[in-house]
Amino acid sequence: MSILLMQNSSDSLIYYEQRWWSILVEVLLGMGTEIMEEMHCMEQFFIRLQNVYAFVCQVCFFILWYQVIEEDVVEELRGDKTVITALTTILFYSVFGYFVTRIKEICQNGRARSVQTTPSMRSCLKWLCKIILEWAKAVVIVLCLREQGIHYEPTLLYSIVTFIYYLCTEKVFLEIFPSLIELLNVESMENLEHLYIPLVLNILTIATGTSLVMYTLIMKFSNFVLLSTYFLIYLRVKDAYYNYWCLIIAERETYSSFRTATEKEIQDWADICAVCLNNMSRARITPCNHLFHPYCLKQCLKTSFYCPLCKRHFMEASGESQ
Ligand SMILES: [Zn+2]
Ligand SMILES: [Zn+2]
Repeated sequence: MSILLMQNSSDSLIYYEQRWWSILVEVLLGMGTEIMEEMHCMEQFFIRLQNVYAFVCQVCFFILWYQVIEEDVVEELRGDKTVITALTTILFYSVFGYFVTRIKEICQNGRARSVQTTPSMRSCLKWLCKIILEWAKAVVIVLCLREQGIHYEPTLLYSIVTFIYYLCTEKVFLEIFPSLIELLNVESMENLEHLYIPLVLNILTIATGTSLVMYTLIMKFSNFVLLSTYFLIYLRVKDAYYNYWCLIIAERETYSSFRTATEKEIQDWADICAVCLNNMSRARITPCNHLFHPYCLKQCLKTSFYCPLCKRHFMEASGESQ
């Protein structure tokens, strides 16, 4: 009897031990996924602060690139010099970025007010003064550094690579490049330039960032590598995947539910697009059997899922037509 009891109690002990473990693992897993979700939200928030996100990536990249190409810097000066060179370089580039932002604003205002296309003389002078002031600030900083014995003399290679990286990451250029490509009217882009171009630039920065980090890891380990891996590779891959790749897939899927119209169908439709009232050589047919320019349809889809002509919901109409 007592042996049976002992066996029973040891069995239940093992059972409770197993349960205890499984509960612990479950709790830990739950906490882990929750923390990951929180991290993901915070990272996405950080990425949305485009200027700060770009600045941090630029600083990391510029410092790493300086460490890679400037081998002969004295070891004790290296820390200061790399950071100061990176920050001063960004300062000069940001003056250029500011200049481009102003030009972009003037162009946009010109387009919005088609009557008064040229900005007033006074505002032109004002922003010219501002740019000269910004430039002067950067030069003064360089002179002050020189006083302290730190010479800001970036090599041509350093300047070219950092400038390209700056162009690929800065917010204003991520907005300008797609609109420039849009002017070329590349058909294979399917009016998704605003997603494709930043994605390509993102992949470029990830590739250069990865090769820099790998080189630093193999040739000379620096404490800075871990931080750079996070910002230059991990965050940028997340940005490319969630904010561009997933959106491209979603937009393409919605759009592909509209089939391309044949030439005969376009002729039967009397060649006119109801959105822009222009002739059509290419068209897409909605589930409610209305024809529009692919571009016009895409523009409409960005704001609503209702047919611009009959105001029926595309999803309802496709359900009825099946
Ligand atoms: Zn149209
Ligand atoms: Zn319709």
